[in-house]
Amino acid sequence: MAKKTESYCSFCGRSSREVDLLMPGINGCICSDCAAQAYEISRNYLAEHHTKAADIDINEVPKPTAIKEYLDQYIIGQERAKKYISVAVYNHYKRLAQKDDDVDIEKSNIIMVGPTGTGKTLIAKTIARLLKVPFAIVDATVLTEAGYVGEDIESLLTRLLQACDYDVKLAERGIVFIDEIDKIARKGDNPSITRDVSGEGVQQGLLKLLEGSIVNVPPQGGRKHPEQRMIAVNTKNILFICGGAFEGIERKIALRLNTHAVGYGAEANNKRIAREKLLHYVTPQDLRSFGLIPEIIGRLPILTNLEELDRDALRRILVEPKNAIVKQYIKLFKMDGVELRFDDAALDYIVDKAIEFKLGARGLRSIVETIMIDAMYEVPSTDKKEFEVSKDYARMQLNKANFDMIQQVN
Ligand code: ADP
Repeated sequence: MAKKTESYCSFCGRSSREVDLLMPGINGCICSDCAAQAYEISRNYLAEHHTKAADIDINEVPKPTAIKEYLDQYIIGQERAKKYISVAVYNHYKRLAQKDDDVDIEKSNIIMVGPTGTGKTLIAKTIARLLKVPFAIVDATVLTEAGYVGEDIESLLTRLLQACDYDVKLAERGIVFIDEIDKIARKGDNPSITRDVSGEGVQQGLLKLLEGSIVNVPPQGGRKHPEQRMIAVNTKNILFICGGAFEGIERKIALRLNTHAVGYGAEANNKRIAREKLLHYVTPQDLRSFGLIPEIIGRLPILTNLEELDRDALRRILVEPKNAIVKQYIKLFKMDGVELRFDDAALDYIVDKAIEFKLGARGLRSIVETIMIDAMYEVPSTDKKEFEVSKDYARMQLNKANFDMIQQVN
């Protein structure tokens, strides 16, 4: 007959004979003394950290339409993403403000799928500025599973703590933007070659943070080591916004839709149009076939997509946003008492160059910078009162700087 084995408390190690009561759990036991102590610790923690419902007055939080209007001032196009995010953020605040516990509003973490340079980070940054909450951008590619070279998953909260001077309460309501989430997709299904070695392990680690738990954060980031004093952060009310290009996902979408992606194997121009259209139909199922684990997808309930920026969008980005590049240069010149003007043809030319070299919205700034460098150097020492940038001037400046050559080397 098998001998009955003795049970021990998994916390203090004492046996059932040494304690008043030993309560069994799934993988261990806890004695009545340790349970009482744990109760005290958690009570103190919650008293110190718990977000009080009274702290947030939902009437003071901007309504979704107002959030979207604010985003419109900085982000061109991407109507769908802006709308989804406005609603998600508003609901997040409702969740923080909820008083009764009858229906628990779940967290509305967001995932944005869209090509690089289309405004994912910009949307997240702009939202954080509007809400005046701490905000941190982290790159998922630096994260690795514990035991591998790289940063521990918890370190992404270090950035958030740093953004609010280690005020834990503030950080616990912040927003974390996790960029390149697609790079931690599971090996195997994913056509990308730049995947992290421990993709699935990282996703498992991330899950803990997304679903809301108390995690120990290394104050200086990087890897945790035993001597370091950890800071306990509750992620329950932290909003996570994830972004990724998910290159190749349109194939999965096409497969699911049982259609052929128009243009695969055909000319490049068709392919781009097809990608844009297909991304519009992205579902959680496609993220799964791309290699995100279902648990992670479940914790990112708001899924939206961003569109490739076309010529018209690039042209608008140059002049329309509140801090548009052209507006910034006009302001710089105005400070020297010089009125700066850009010809329409010059603006079109700048957009053409950004498209020609596949630089997207990010490239607009470097092109304008290259065109303006001489004028910025010389004009302040002259008595000029105005300066006009024509297409010819723009072309001359780019040629002079060998812009074409530089772009080709890159
Ligand atoms: P990503 O999608 O890779 O996160 P970013 O948000 O970092 O792209 O965009 C890079 C830069 O390009 C931004 O800082 C901004 O200047 C410009 N940009 C990109 N998309 C837009 C947009 N939709 N409206 C205005 N500016 C944009």
